[in-house]
Formats: sequence, C-alpha cells, structure tokens
Amino acid sequence: MSTPLPFHGRPIIVGAGVAGLMTALELAPRPVVVLSKAPLGAEGSTLWAQGGMAAALGADDSPALHAVDTMAAGDGLCDAAIVDRFVRVAPQAIEDLARLGVRFDRRADGGFALGLEAAHSRSRIAHVGGDGAGRELMRALVAAACAAPSITVLEGFEARRLLVEDNAVRGLVAMGPSEPALFATDRVVIATGGIGGLYAESTNPLGSFAQGLALAARAGAVLADMEFVQFHPTALDVPLRPMPLISEAVRGEGAKLIDERGEPFMAGIRGAELAPRDVVARAIWSLRQSGGRAFLDARAAIGEKFAARFPAIADACRAAGIDPAREPMPVRPAQHYHMGGIAVDAEGRSSVAGLWACGEAASTGLHGANRLASNSLAEAAVDAAIVARSIDGVKSRALAPPRPVRTPLPADPAAVRPILSRVAGVARDGETLSAAIGPLAEMAAANGPAADPAAVALMITVAALRREHSLGAHYRTDFPSAPAAPERSRLTLDEAFAAAGAYAPPVRIRRA
Ligand SMILES: Cc1cc2nc3c(=O)[nH]c(=O)nc-3n(C[C@H](O)[C@H](O)[C@H](O)COP(=O)(O)OP(=O)(O)OC[C@H]3O[C@@H](n4cnc5c(N)ncnc54)[C@H](O)[C@@H]3O)c2cc1C
Repeated sequence: MSTPLPFHGRPIIVGAGVAGLMTALELAPRPVVVLSKAPLGAEGSTLWAQGGMAAALGADDSPALHAVDTMAAGDGLCDAAIVDRFVRVAPQAIEDLARLGVRFDRRADGGFALGLEAAHSRSRIAHVGGDGAGRELMRALVAAACAAPSITVLEGFEARRLLVEDNAVRGLVAMGPSEPALFATDRVVIATGGIGGLYAESTNPLGSFAQGLALAARAGAVLADMEFVQFHPTALDVPLRPMPLISEAVRGEGAKLIDERGEPFMAGIRGAELAPRDVVARAIWSLRQSGGRAFLDARAAIGEKFAARFPAIADACRAAGIDPAREPMPVRPAQHYHMGGIAVDAEGRSSVAGLWACGEAASTGLHGANRLASNSLAEAAVDAAIVARSIDGVKSRALAPPRPVRTPLPADPAAVRPILSRVAGVARDGETLSAAIGPLAEMAAANGPAADPAAVALMITVAALRREHSLGAHYRTDFPSAPAAPERSRLTLDEAFAAAGAYAPPVRIRRA
C-alpha cells in the first residue's frame, strides 16, 4: 500500500531529463516536485545526446529555412503552426541555456560554432565538446535544479499509476527507494523520454521504455502518431546493447556510407548521406536484406582528426576495437526516437485535465512522420517553458487526501522486445502486424510485469496496421505509396483493445 507524502497539491513532474528539469526551472519560484527513477543525471537519453541542438543561429540561416527543413523531413505530417513557433523560439532557448551555464562550442569571434547534420540546408547545430552536448546540458541543468529552492527532486521514485477521476488527474502512485508513495496532486507533467527499451536494438538507455506513455494511456489519455518510430541509420553494428550511436554530424563532415565491397550505395539516392534519417535507414535496411553490410567511412573526410572532433564516438569505437581514423565503421539502423507519444495541444496539455507532457514522451506534431536531426533537445527546451506557463495558469483545486491504493508491480519490457522488433521495425506489413496484436493485447490486459510495455506496444502495432500507406519512418512493404494528404493518427488504449478484437483471433481480455 502507498503512503501519502507531504507535497499536497504541488505539481509533479515525472522525469528528470532536459524536458523535466527545464519545466521545473521554468516554474521557479513556484514549488514543484520532480520524480526521477534513477539518481539525478544518471539516466535518460538527454545525457547521451551527441550532435546538439538545432536552431537558426547562423548569419546565413533563418527560422523560415529551419521550418522548410523540418517540414521536409517530417514528410508532410508536421503541424505547420507548431513548426513555425518552434523555429522562431529555438534560437532564444539556446541563448537562454548558454546564460544558464551550458558551455556551447564557440568560434573565435564568440558566436556559436555550428555543425551540419543530415537534411539540414544550413549549419545550425549548436554543439558542446564536439559530440558531448547531452552530458554538458545535464551538468548545467542538474546544477541549476539543485540550486533552486523551489525544486524538490525525489530520486529513486518511479511513477507507476496516475489516479484519475472524471477525466481529471487526482494523484499519482510511485514506488520510492524503500516503500510506495502517494501524491495528492491535480497537475502532473510526463517527461519520461523515449521508448527504445521496447526494442531489442536501440540507441536509447534501457530505462527508456515508455513508462510515461503507459501512465497516460492507462489514465485514458489520447496518444498520437504512435506508428512513427525513428530508426537511426548509423548505430555501430556491434553486439552491445544499447547500441552506440554514430552521430549524423560525422556524415555532416563528409564521411561516406559504403557497402562491404567499398561501393558508395547512397550515391544514387536524393540527398545521399545527408538524406533524412528514414531514407538512409531504409537504404541500409535494403542493403542488409540483400545480404550486404553497411559501413561508414570517415578516413578521407575526417581521418586523424576524428578523435578530437568526436571524442565520445571515438571512445565507443575504440571499446569495440575499431579505429575510425583508419577503418570504416560497421553500421546498421536501430530504434532511436519516437515521433509519437502523448497527444498534446499547443500548451502541452493532454486530453486528461491536469496532465501535461513534454520532451520525447509528448507528440506535439513538430516532427511529423520523421524527426529532423537535433530538433529534439531544442523542442524540449522550447516546450518546457510553454508547459510551465500553462501549469501556472491553472488554479489547483481543493484535493481530498488520497486513499491508500495498491502499487502496481515493476514493469519489465523483456517479453515485448522480440515482438515489437519483429513487427514494427524499419519495414512493416499487415500480416505480421496483425499476428502480433493478439499476444500483445493479452499481455497488456493481464497483471504481469509486461502489461504496461505491452499496452504501449499494442498501440504502436494497431496504429501501424491502420496506416495503410508509407510515410516518413512508417514504411509498409504492402502499401509502399505515400498518401496525397496525410493525417496524424490518434488512439486511446480502449480503442487499441477494441481493435485487437477486430484484427486478431479472439483473445481473452481481462482488464486490470
Ligand atoms: C544516443 C542518443 C543521441 C541523441 N542525440 C541527440 C542530439 O544530438 N540532439 C537531439 O536533439 N536529440 C538527440 N537525441 C534525442 C534526445 O536526446 C532525446 O529525445 C531527449 O533527450 C529526450 O529528453 P527527455 O527529457 O524527454 O527524456 P530523457 O532525457 O530520456 O529523460 C527521461 C527521464 O525520465 C525518467 N523516467 C522515466 N520513467 C520514469 C518513471 N516511471 N518515473 C520516474 N522517472 C522516470 C528517466 O529516469 C529520465 O530521468 C539523442 C538520443 C540518443 C539516445
């Protein structure tokens, strides 16, 4: 049973990556509680980010050009108004982070040193220490959060259930370091990051397995664009899990993709190495389907400067026995980012009153069917301020002291990984997706450790099955054409369970 904690009525932020910590900082001096299931700064994709943050900061750039690139990568599915707001605010968000203490790489004249990444028409990636943007961002944010008297960080607290009445948040159940805890609150922000832990091959930390999406889905919230899962084309093809990432910035500096015979297989494809991620990932997937292997060759373009320009990537290669200055790096696509997530409006509000989301857990419409490289950290920074303003505008209601409730068991995505990896990878087809729906629905409806991961996997699978065309990161081998006017998708968990009845052989569904 969970015990009420003494933070009655305070907003609760679940997650302490860039999205969660920046929301807490933006709310200051208003008191807020941040739950982090891991020690502060020890877990989350933010820490691992390499390339940096995209914004129109260069003299040859403009928000309009950044918008054009974002929309092109998003393959017609981006929300134009959200894109427009984001590209205009992103430069200021990066200036603000620099003022907060993030030590971005600078040119001799003091301006931001800007990198080029795939599908960007200008150099616009503000980076840190070459490829250490995430580490430095987290250092600065953790320091600022610890120094803010208004922010209470509860480390080792894992959110397990939202308490909802009449479609409004009433509390949250978490497991603390030694015992369950109950928070009476009517304002919760989900900032739990990505879904990579639901896949066998991912670049995400293992702890990123969509817990926030499960919290929202079980609370009845609408989730959006769940079928759009981004596969990064160049994960280092070694037997390490999570898979080390070779940032796009390496291709931005001229490294070439070659096959096992040394042939440059991207040469005939529009955009070549700098095409959007979904295009490059599919090219590598096709090569591998025909028995080939892909390598990223940085010898001519970067050579001996590799370790100085990309120290973290050089370290990962060295650990795998590869010297990128002297030999091509073996690469393959791996799950990397989720464009889908909790459907939020322009203020970051979900369909459940009192529930906001930001960062990778949210689906704002910015990324459309495929995220443009380095737009994620910048989006989290921009949206944290928007969410904080929205929360500030909501008056907390009188809350009854919560009644103790049973705490759900810890979730374990191990049983879901092989299924989702097989059916919802770089390429999908109706037959394989349909076959997975029954087993996922059964797991999601039971009370076992796989229930929450399976609920999210079920929603991804149903959304992927329903989208009978190919668009951005969603490639259907049985429906390879793109639609004339694509629309975003929306789904609740109840609808996914109902769809399971329609698509798959009958299953015994026991709702928890
Ligand atoms: C290897 C790698 C490189 C990347 N490089 C870039 C890049 O260069 N530029 C870019 O823009 N994007 C990049 N991305 C993507 C980007 O890093 C993420 O999208 C972004 O950091 C997500 O931030 P977040 O705050 O939403 O989530 P995260 O940083 O993942 O933080 C999630 C937090 O939630 C906590 N949490 C999760 N579940 C619970 C729970 N139930 N209870 C309590 N706490 C919970 C976690 O412990 C963690 O603190 C990269 C991603 C990876 C994996």
